Amino acid sequence: MSDTGVRHPLVTIPRVLVVEDEAGLRLTLTDRLVSEGYAVETADDGAKGLERATSEPYDLIVLDVMLPRMNGLDVCRAVRQRGVTTPILMLTARGQVVDKVVGLKLGADDYLTKPFETIELMARLEALLRRRLSSPQPGGDTYRFGDVVVDFRRAEVSRGGRPIELSAREFKLLRHFIEHRGATLSRDELLSDVWGYDEMPLTRTVDVHVAGLRQKIESNPKSPEYIVTVHGLGYKFAG
Ligand code: CA
Repeated sequence: MSDTGVRHPLVTIPRVLVVEDEAGLRLTLTDRLVSEGYAVETADDGAKGLERATSEPYDLIVLDVMLPRMNGLDVCRAVRQRGVTTPILMLTARGQVVDKVVGLKLGADDYLTKPFETIELMARLEALLRRRLSSPQPGGDTYRFGDVVVDFRRAEVSRGGRPIELSAREFKLLRHFIEHRGATLSRDELLSDVWGYDEMPLTRTVDVHVAGLRQKIESNPKSPEYIVTVHGLGYKFAG
């Protein structure tokens, strides 16, 4: 596990369900996951996988597409229809582009094409876990990235446990970035969404506020880790 400070203090051992019919791969994944500190349960066909995924809580699900009894795409759809929001990483066969597209549409969070390196799978799972633990849950009102905690309800931000003073505009901008994390936002979009048309600010205004925000939340504002510049396009929040 990486040590970025975003792990939820209550979750000590993440639980993973591996749904895979190839015994060799199932064993390899189980061994590796256990050695990385995960608790692992497995299912060797789609029907069992669905049964498990919907009857016990997991932090992550690794789901093969080609499975006996019920394929991974149907399992994924059924899991989501039953209201389970656990992140799903789908394993697809090489060249099955359709599976990837359909899988993501049906509610999978990521996919990996076979054959893959175990280290790649670990990295993807860790990313999904981080995202899950740091994304605002329904009813939740804080968001964490690195050592920064944003309390949306109280409109307060702290870093390393110390409060940070943000202007109302900076707070609004940061919230907008968090709500659209991963997406590239142009200066024009930010102006219209965060400032509003009636204020008619200059494009440069965005840069000034982004620079101000970086000073407060980035450990190295000159080489930002969270509010990154997408050259020629705008900015992206990578927290
Ligand atoms: Ca398979």
